[in-house]
Amino acid sequence: MNGKPKIDDDQSEALVTNNGSSPACPIKSCTDTSWYADAHDIEYSTSDRTYSFYRCQTCDILFIVPMLWDRLGEIYPKNYYSYAPKKRGIVPHQRSLERRLLKLLASIPGDRLSVLDIGGGSGWMLDQIKSCSPRVGFTQCVDLDGAAQAHAVARGHAYHLGRIEQFDTDRRFDLVQAFDLIEHVRDPALVLRRIAGLLTDHGRVLISTPNFDALDARLFRHCSWAGYHTPRHFVMFNRQSFTALAEQSGLAVESFSYTPGATYWAASVLNAMRRLGLVEVSPQRLPYDHPLYPLLKASFAAFDFARRPFARLSKMVFTLSRRCPPA
Ligand SMILES: [Zn+2]
Repeated sequence: MNGKPKIDDDQSEALVTNNGSSPACPIKSCTDTSWYADAHDIEYSTSDRTYSFYRCQTCDILFIVPMLWDRLGEIYPKNYYSYAPKKRGIVPHQRSLERRLLKLLASIPGDRLSVLDIGGGSGWMLDQIKSCSPRVGFTQCVDLDGAAQAHAVARGHAYHLGRIEQFDTDRRFDLVQAFDLIEHVRDPALVLRRIAGLLTDHGRVLISTPNFDALDARLFRHCSWAGYHTPRHFVMFNRQSFTALAEQSGLAVESFSYTPGATYWAASVLNAMRRLGLVEVSPQRLPYDHPLYPLLKASFAAFDFARRPFARLSKMVFTLSRRCPPA
């Protein structure tokens, strides 16, 4: 363990300390963890406290301390971006995910496919899938957002208001999507095992999650890199560590790609400019509402797109299937 002197007194009780100083890893309670960075909520200013990220050397993950899994009402404000109604294709990253989903769906056999969207809010992406693929016969949302339920149900999607860990069903799904979700949960291994158990024999999973082993993550490591999404990202991965956890959880990686992390770049750069006194970004005026944000985002999208063939970018997309048990 290195450097970081002190853990906040009211850290989640889920984290057991080792030697009274370094918190145990939330995946396997590993004790070889070390302080990685401190960070603040630079997007929603839900509090002015300092959070710490620790790295587990065994699992090669980052995890946040304190992990406020039991105070979601505080760390997800009412103006949280995913609570806002979405329109088709407003974000290139989402458009790209939608294209991947439809391609993946086309490769799955069957006449009446079932699709599950975990963390899909009002089901806006399920709307697109349903309208583009007549073979989709059943769609299900699992989300914590009560305000989105009525909209999802009105659009014909079944809705479970709660966590995926508590979603009880006999149904099996041909496609499960979990975009930018796994880094938000307290026990990602449990969620991945749950997903594996919900798949049909031909079932596929599409998951996106940030990559902390990326250029922007390194440059802004000690400047509240926006990919930390502090304090809402609990556990973060790189390609190797997510692959390992998926395999341990009964899933196999079918395909993988890095995708541009333009939103992380743009919010991180704006925050750095704010620290230098070059721009004003108030809590009421989120980085996403700043007039420079679209320009920065477009510039870094182009930058990452150009680097994509040879660089590890700060977003990752995995296609997974159920892992065959050893013969
Ligand atoms: Zn670990």
